[in-house]
Amino acid sequence: MYGLLAVVFFWAVAIYFLRREIAPAWAEPCLRHPVLVFEGDDWGYGPLEQADALRDIAVELARHRDLTGRHPVMTLGVILAGPGAAGTPEEALGAARVTLEDARLEPVCAAMAQGVRAGVFDLQLHGMEHYHPAVLTRAVQMDPQVRVWLAGAPFVETEQLPSPLQSRWTDASVLPSKALDEGDIRARVADEVAMFRQCFGALPEVVVPPTFVWNACVERAWAEQGLAVLVTPGERYETRGTDGLPVDTGVYYRNGQRCASGLLAIVRNDYFEPVRGHRTERGLAGLAAKWAQRRPLLLETHRSNFVGASAQRTESVRAIGDLVSAALHAQPGLRFLTVAELAQHYVRGGDLIDPRLRTRLLALLHRLDRPGRRRKIFGLLAALTMAAAFAALVAAV
Ligand SMILES: [Zn+2]
Repeated sequence: MYGLLAVVFFWAVAIYFLRREIAPAWAEPCLRHPVLVFEGDDWGYGPLEQADALRDIAVELARHRDLTGRHPVMTLGVILAGPGAAGTPEEALGAARVTLEDARLEPVCAAMAQGVRAGVFDLQLHGMEHYHPAVLTRAVQMDPQVRVWLAGAPFVETEQLPSPLQSRWTDASVLPSKALDEGDIRARVADEVAMFRQCFGALPEVVVPPTFVWNACVERAWAEQGLAVLVTPGERYETRGTDGLPVDTGVYYRNGQRCASGLLAIVRNDYFEPVRGHRTERGLAGLAAKWAQRRPLLLETHRSNFVGASAQRTESVRAIGDLVSAALHAQPGLRFLTVAELAQHYVRGGDLIDPRLRTRLLALLHRLDRPGRRRKIFGLLAALTMAAAFAALVAAV
């Protein structure tokens, strides 16, 4: 009797201390079917060979369908502008800037639009540039490597910039990075949203912060400009530390969460980068793990797999196709849709959402079952409970 009381007490204490983990894991809605989305970043400004790469990806995706007849979707996080050829860095990053309205980038935009019409692409805002022009102008004065990169403009790969400088929404010209001025943020967000609309004829619905560094001010500005959905890695990073890496803030996001800004959060929760050796096995393991948690699998995959100095286009396209085939085989109920559509299901509690208690309890266990301290605590409690139950049984006999 006392043993059972002690176990109940320990469980109560554990749940109290882990309430900050349990509450969001419980609040996140559960999916009724497994979902897979490829989240392609960095498309738009850059090498002109992108048009061919996009067409290859679109052809591969169009070969597959889910039960409902939908093709797998790769969302394209679009970068709208980058440096042009000019005599000075200020000019290259300013007056001579090249945008997607430039006739030379027309084939890239056409390949994107064609994929959208075919139901295999969906365009998301990634940013006007994959950097902050004024910050990069300052960095050029100090970093000869950045100067060499800029001299190659136009159509240079922003992937080649030092990582901290690829963050658009913090001033990383000197580390640790500093917050940007609020007026500057609001003006730049208004510009990028207007440019997206000009290029594609519609407002962007979904935004993907470059390098996942942004702050509450940027988020509010996107909401004010009419964006609806924010793609996150599950946490917000606002600055770069002295080591150049994103700094933890403890501001977390879950799927379907209505943020203070008004945006709806979606969590990108794995990678599929074929140039880094990611293949079917890894994708399937991710799909099984996320499905057990009744979460979608959102696979981040960058343009650099398909375009640029280190790209392996044919192998990467094939790796995507192989994963889709194997995923449909492993999970015949698998659904393909866009991130914007997925967000709508979370908002409306659409037929993709499973509200049953049993589903939610099982999903909660899988969501909490992560390596580290928590698993040890729950493991210990489970062992204690079994021991107490066994002792009670023996006493009863
Ligand atoms: Zn990016």
